[in-house]
Amino acid sequence: MTDCVFCRIVAGQIPATVVHEDEHTLAFMDIGQVNPGHVLVALKAHAESLFALEEAQAAAVFRAAARVARGIRAAFEPQGLSVYQANGKPAGQTVFHFHIHLVPRHDGDGMNLTWPVKNPPREKLEDYAARIRARLGAAPL
Ligand SMILES: [Zn+2]
Repeated sequence: MTDCVFCRIVAGQIPATVVHEDEHTLAFMDIGQVNPGHVLVALKAHAESLFALEEAQAAAVFRAAARVARGIRAAFEPQGLSVYQANGKPAGQTVFHFHIHLVPRHDGDGMNLTWPVKNPPREKLEDYAARIRARLGAAPL
């Protein structure tokens, strides 16, 4: 038996409150509920992070996220909605099975993300972009 908590939810071994299910994805209520209506959209197959997704999985999970986000908006009428998706411990990932948080947002709700901009010169941006462009064909991990 796997010790991955999301694989166990997908397998029905751990209960979850499901809001959407399709071939590739399962969306269920986050037990923490940062704000009412907070949903996780997870892949059914085990993939540790964004870096591991096949093209069809990436398309399916974002399609499901958009669909569920529209449902959250219609049901809870939040002032906004944050999409949070972490890859790796330094990024804040705590469950190492790919998932997207959909968090309804309200002014002053206390959810914060610090954003320490560096504002590098244009030449640095060109260098960074060239490095990424050269590797866009990298295979999933
Ligand atoms: Zn898993």
